[in-house]
Amino acid sequence: MKFFWVFCVLCSFASAAWALEREAFTIAKYDLEIRLEPEQQRLGARGKIMLRNDSAHPQKIAALQISSSLNWRSIRVDGKAVQFVSQPYTSDIDHTGALSEAIVTLPVEIKPKDSVELEIGYEGVIPLDTTRLTRVGIPEGIAKHTSWDQISPSFTAVRGAGYVAWYPITTESADFSEGNSLFEVVDRWKAREARSEFKARVAMSREGGEAPPVTICSPGSDRAIQQSGRSQLISAECSWTRLGTATPTFAIAGYVSGSKLPLILLSLPGHEAGAVTYSNALDPAMKFVSGWFGQPSAPIAIADLADPNSAPFESGTLLMASMAAEDSKLAGINLVHELVHSALPSSRPWVYEGLAHFAEAMYRQEQGGRQAALDFLGLHRAAFLDSEKEVSAALQKNVGQKVVAEKSAGQPLAVTFDETYYRSKAAYVWWMLRDMAGDDALKEAIRKYRGEDDNDKAPKYVELLIEAAAKRDLSWFFDDWVYQDRGLPDFHVQSVHPWKTEKGVQFITVTLENLGNAGAEVPFTIFFEGGEITKRIEVRAKTTATTRVELPGTASKIVVNDGSVPESDLTNNVFKISAP
Ligand SMILES: [Zn+2]
Repeated sequence: MKFFWVFCVLCSFASAAWALEREAFTIAKYDLEIRLEPEQQRLGARGKIMLRNDSAHPQKIAALQISSSLNWRSIRVDGKAVQFVSQPYTSDIDHTGALSEAIVTLPVEIKPKDSVELEIGYEGVIPLDTTRLTRVGIPEGIAKHTSWDQISPSFTAVRGAGYVAWYPITTESADFSEGNSLFEVVDRWKAREARSEFKARVAMSREGGEAPPVTICSPGSDRAIQQSGRSQLISAECSWTRLGTATPTFAIAGYVSGSKLPLILLSLPGHEAGAVTYSNALDPAMKFVSGWFGQPSAPIAIADLADPNSAPFESGTLLMASMAAEDSKLAGINLVHELVHSALPSSRPWVYEGLAHFAEAMYRQEQGGRQAALDFLGLHRAAFLDSEKEVSAALQKNVGQKVVAEKSAGQPLAVTFDETYYRSKAAYVWWMLRDMAGDDALKEAIRKYRGEDDNDKAPKYVELLIEAAAKRDLSWFFDDWVYQDRGLPDFHVQSVHPWKTEKGVQFITVTLENLGNAGAEVPFTIFFEGGEITKRIEVRAKTTATTRVELPGTASKIVVNDGSVPESDLTNNVFKISAP
């Protein structure tokens, strides 16, 4: 037995010494040549990648991963082949549920912050694969609607990291069945790659004949068809920036183009009516977006998906969504979202995506009133409610111990790469800012905002723009909602006191309490005989605020929060006033 222990001490020592830091290298630059053969579902890749050592230690070993249906062919540094071992690596970051990992021995150690360029080659097939979903029990028929990536003769669409590793990535294993592990790994990857550059030329050759298929990758990319004899080479020059919110994606299909700039509209035969719905929705959407966010200039693309039940997907200004249905409301909202991206580029995900989702809600308001917009926003609430409740619980525990919430307990909006936060929570934050600042001030701040490249670098840039326009201190709000994650507020009526002046004018004094750790300005409505009055009041975290309201009748009920402020508990928001 003693022998066994000694052996184990040795082996754990050895494994520690050999521990592979899979996330040590970030891929700072991609320059790839992708050749597709849709008939064989094949993809062949050649090109260069730049690895940067983002770890604190020198690294001699790099782990490069591609989809398990692809195989490594060659890896070279400075023109010389380098040694590598290829092995399968289980990870749900790829639709096949596994990766082909090349463990590469670099010719020299790469110091922290230093980079090395690799010439790489790999090839294989990308068929439809639902393994990572079916193995956790999702029925194949449903899994296909989410996991629709494939190369095939009739329809090719392949999304990048998080869906299909059609280009090398460097990640720890991700597990679908283990809480948030998959999303954590993907978010971490996106954060590391946020400033990377990605260029790829996607090409396929075919025999001429009927109309050539259309390639779409990054909207506005150059597309070309080279004819030599009977054969054609169809290619697109794709480039992606801001990889925190954009996922390198390409699609090739027999698309019909119905474009009117800035919209590149690609629909599939049979979906003509759905495509017309989009065309018709363009002008009103353009008008709305220009009024708030400035003129959309860069092209946006909306590309059809063959399966009407496919989950839509967005990468930067490319939206892939089925046009099978003629849904003019949805078309309008989708266009508004992409046009906001076109008008207002930003390297901050909470600004880039948050404003686009906020604009969708405002567009709903324009068409159906404030309640329609709040109902629409309400669909976002569930996305972040549970994680925010955990944050609140963690903060609660730390009370009195002078311990600030663990970093892992929250996701400050300003820096998060978690979609549920930078989309859903951010949409609410912009809505609350609008309610507090007013339309004119928020429009002015947005007009002055420059999010490209490094403009939005100062931590308080957005706050200062809005404060200047609104002439109001909002630092407390940004602290609670943007710079920190303090969970959500929880409002209730603490007390009411109806009273009358000597001349018989009725008043009510209302005290609201916020039990949560995030403050907000919240609307509350007082119902009285024959009407209602809505007022707004700022209630900071863990405090109360009191106001008095003049009423034309006797108050019967107070309802706090019309749904515009996300709260952790909405069951304590109605207060009935018993007759005196
Ligand atoms: Zn978006």
